[in-house]
Amino acid sequence: MNNPASISGGCLCGAVRYRAEEPLWVAHCHCRSCRLASGGAFTTFAGFARQSLVYLSGQPALFESSPGVHRGFCARCGSSLTYQSDRWPDEVHVLIATADAPEALEPQAHVYCAEKLPWIHLDDGLPQHPGTSNPD
Ligand SMILES: [Zn+2]
Ligand SMILES: [Zn+2]
Repeated sequence: MNNPASISGGCLCGAVRYRAEEPLWVAHCHCRSCRLASGGAFTTFAGFARQSLVYLSGQPALFESSPGVHRGFCARCGSSLTYQSDRWPDEVHVLIATADAPEALEPQAHVYCAEKLPWIHLDDGLPQHPGTSNPD
């Protein structure tokens, strides 16, 4: 993986700004819950250790989209920003389309392809997992 050591980014209106160090992984998620939370056909996340994500201004509001799952968004402009789950208590997942330079991050896989929209056609050569990339 050839990702930058840190990323910065924020929401559409600029009220929430963040910085995060050392991306652990980058993946596209095709689950329906991500579609409803983001309004997009799929989402792209980078995983970070929770303590490596710091807010430079503002804080996302949190919505519990499933038991133990909290999605963070800007309460002013609505940008979807983060995902945290009790399933991965040490990680926070950042929606990297909100990064200042998302092109610097390299996605490694597609997850939840069982829920992918049929009109999304993938030909990037990345692995396509029906659920998460870590069966458990
Ligand atoms: Zn905002
Ligand atoms: Zn998802």
